[in-house]
Amino acid sequence: MSSAMSDTETLGVVGGGQLGRMLAEAAAPLGVELVVLDPTPDCPASPVARDQIVGSFDDEAGVRELASRADYLTYEIELADPDLLEAVEEEYDVTVNPDPETLRMIQDKLVQKQSLRDAGVPVPEFRQVDDRSDLEAAVEEFGYPVMLKAREGGYDGRGNVPVESADDFDALDELDGPAMAEEFVEFEREVSIIGVKGADGETATFPLGENVHREEILRETVVPARTSEDVAERAREVVEDVLALLSGRGVYGIELFETCEARSASDASGGEPRADGEILVNEIAPRPHNSGHYTIEGALTSQFEQHVRAVTGRPLGATDIRSPTVTANVLGDVDETRPANPVGIESVLAHPGASFHWYGKHEVRPLRKMGHLTVVGDCEALRDSDGLAGDARETDTEELLADARELRDEVTFE
Ligand code: ADP
Repeated sequence: MSSAMSDTETLGVVGGGQLGRMLAEAAAPLGVELVVLDPTPDCPASPVARDQIVGSFDDEAGVRELASRADYLTYEIELADPDLLEAVEEEYDVTVNPDPETLRMIQDKLVQKQSLRDAGVPVPEFRQVDDRSDLEAAVEEFGYPVMLKAREGGYDGRGNVPVESADDFDALDELDGPAMAEEFVEFEREVSIIGVKGADGETATFPLGENVHREEILRETVVPARTSEDVAERAREVVEDVLALLSGRGVYGIELFETCEARSASDASGGEPRADGEILVNEIAPRPHNSGHYTIEGALTSQFEQHVRAVTGRPLGATDIRSPTVTANVLGDVDETRPANPVGIESVLAHPGASFHWYGKHEVRPLRKMGHLTVVGDCEALRDSDGLAGDARETDTEELLADARELRDEVTFE
């Protein structure tokens, strides 16, 4: 049933985690309501969506029900099933964005890298690894260490194993499913751009963000990235090329490496050392991305509103930032799973310019993403300074990052 007779439109979303929750929050002011499909009863999106269908992301009956109730379909998790989405797109005459074909390409990290390379987009050196001899060949070609990756199903670094010597080859047996290997990129910093494709080929990009990871999990995003204008411009060009390759409307999180010559050159074996400040694409997410959470308070349009605008065929919003902004993830700082009782959120709320986003997860688990906080810069001070250029920008983000980390450390679990 379409909601054509009501004054609201319905967006069906496969997945109802924190991304679904923030999508629902952004959709409401546009008069768009969400129905989400998620296996966890009372999932994070559930309290803010109109309804939740409880079912796995590839549950046929669940996806059909979702399609029958929605005017538009999208997904907030790569575990959605592209075949099923294609089938319901025809059967229920509902548009799915981004294109399920794009999802299929992205789901397999090897196919994703091949597609990028074929389109002339710079990526780390890589090769398919089906057995030990392929891994040996990768080591021969790239030198130690190489990054061994499961082609499918990895997230937050799960499924990635650095191989530093032949002793690590057994890692191949521990990855379930097919694998690939990449040169180990020595990067100056990890950066990302949230890009968006709208109707009629319109594209937009948010400014370059800088991502600080620990244990391969994103901890903080600093915007603008503390790098040169040239690198930021180069990153934008690369991202425009990536967007041109992708089909389907919506927001894409595009993770990049800014390379570092000094450290690459110290690696005696393997291929040619890379130059400083090259941009390589690490991976694409066909959905709003953790590194774009800063846009909620920090940009004129949030990535979530932008995604809703794009998939429902509305005009895109402006992507300028309001001020330098830093976001810090609040992860489960516990050793084992237990009911989530956070303390310290008041300290964040008491800080001028800080906002908190709780994801509504009932259980805290080790390193689970439980929420995030955002600290925005002082806009008045910025207007007085020279826009966002030079030293003002540098100092501002340093202070914001220090504040964000301090506030984040206040939040713990009882
Ligand atoms: P996931 O899909 O689990 O997020 P990624 O492939 O994005 O995995 O890798 C997670 C992190 O691992 C990256 O953010 C980066 O820190 C590191 N990483 C991934 N690939 C490479 C590489 N080729 N060289 C060096 N570090 C890498």
